[in-house]
Amino acid sequence: MAQFDGINVKKSEFSEWYTQALIKSEFFDYSSVSGCIVFRPDGYFIWESIQKFTDLAFKNDGIRNAYFPLLIPEKLFEKEKEHVEGFNPEVAWVMQVGNSKLDERLAIRPTSETIIYDSVSKWVKSWRDLPLRLNQWCSVIRWEFKHPTPLLRTREFLWNEGHTAFATREEANSERERILQIYSAVLKDYLALPGISGQKTESEKFAGAESSYSIEFIMPDGKMIQGPDFHNDGQNFAKAFDIKFFDKDGKNQYAYQNTFAITTRVIGAMLAIHGDDRGLVIPPKVSRIQIVIVPIYNNESKDEVLSYSTRICNEINKDLRVLLDDIDIYSPGNKFNRHELRGVPLRIEIGIKESRENTLTVARRDTMKKEKIENKDINDQLSRMLYQMHEDMYKKAKDVLNNAISIVNTYDELKKVILEAKIAQAAWCGSEKCEKKIKAETLAKSTNMPFDVQQGVEKKKCVYCGNAAKHVVNFAKSY
Ligand SMILES: [Zn+2]
Repeated sequence: MAQFDGINVKKSEFSEWYTQALIKSEFFDYSSVSGCIVFRPDGYFIWESIQKFTDLAFKNDGIRNAYFPLLIPEKLFEKEKEHVEGFNPEVAWVMQVGNSKLDERLAIRPTSETIIYDSVSKWVKSWRDLPLRLNQWCSVIRWEFKHPTPLLRTREFLWNEGHTAFATREEANSERERILQIYSAVLKDYLALPGISGQKTESEKFAGAESSYSIEFIMPDGKMIQGPDFHNDGQNFAKAFDIKFFDKDGKNQYAYQNTFAITTRVIGAMLAIHGDDRGLVIPPKVSRIQIVIVPIYNNESKDEVLSYSTRICNEINKDLRVLLDDIDIYSPGNKFNRHELRGVPLRIEIGIKESRENTLTVARRDTMKKEKIENKDINDQLSRMLYQMHEDMYKKAKDVLNNAISIVNTYDELKKVILEAKIAQAAWCGSEKCEKKIKAETLAKSTNMPFDVQQGVEKKKCVYCGNAAKHVVNFAKSY
């Protein structure tokens, strides 16, 4: 019998658990390029599911897909000053082809504002050309030097980048809520992942944006990680790239722009948040295999059990993504461990008893509870269990998130909460000085200013300086 190579640490040793769970589950693999990972089919399936839902929602909202070059000429890249300063340290450049040096360096896109807006400036001439709402699905390279972590900090990652242009600020601003709603929906309905939506502070906003918004998650080690984001760029890029149009009165005006993205990082957050000591726990909608059937037999019962298992497998609707694991080289126990590590939502165990009784034993991956069910309306029964599993996973993660937020009214309370690896929700005067001091002294940064503030936050005095408060901020250590 082949041996099973499982995770050999508990989830409480988070960083080791995380990489073992991603690699040993065969969802992802290292590659020979440091900081770049391979998405194996089960891992890539999750991204495809996110993409399918998001893409359709974007299209229903009037956004159209396009595709722009991977390489960005240096002179374009340097047009927006803040933007280039923000990205320069991480940009990889193509400088040579064959043996000859290029006259102009080409940046491998770390993000595509500059190459896209160069085209948009040619396409937008009149108010009739607006709004222009484009999206592209692609990967980007950001050559980070910090310790790489699969999905959470990789040098190449996959994303959508939405780039839109409007005639007025009001129109541009009204897009924000709809896009954040789409992102929240894919997180909740597909990844069973609750997050905290809010506005970034001035010092944490995107390079080149007027204001930035994000959805943040809490990881099992108590650090927060940023998920999807949205940026109001105002006229910053329009001015740098000369995106001008004649309005209805014949006046020449700069357009107002937004950008937004969801990246493969959310998969890392999702796997980290839902997983347990046994390995991954995959929400049913994004699991390539939703149900695995494991037959349990000896030489005598083999034919009967296999034939009953095959019959059950054929009765299950194929849109439930079922696998009959009848390979002989693993023992049933090994198979259980393997599918648990891989996070398969439901396991159907079939032995001679089930075959004779015309029943099934179903184990749910998230609760590890087993239930014996009649072989009757099994498609309805299994669908209901998958639905319930998703609901329960979301609720459990939401409770963890809510419990991690502590309202703090004094700086001492803030320090204590950060030491406990939690989120400190506090009033803040809006000064960058206080924000920087807090970060320097506690290592906690402002993650965002949440739209939904917990009850009981004193919004009177800044937690650091005691001056009049303007905002409520979530402070936490973060990735
Ligand atoms: Zn202050």
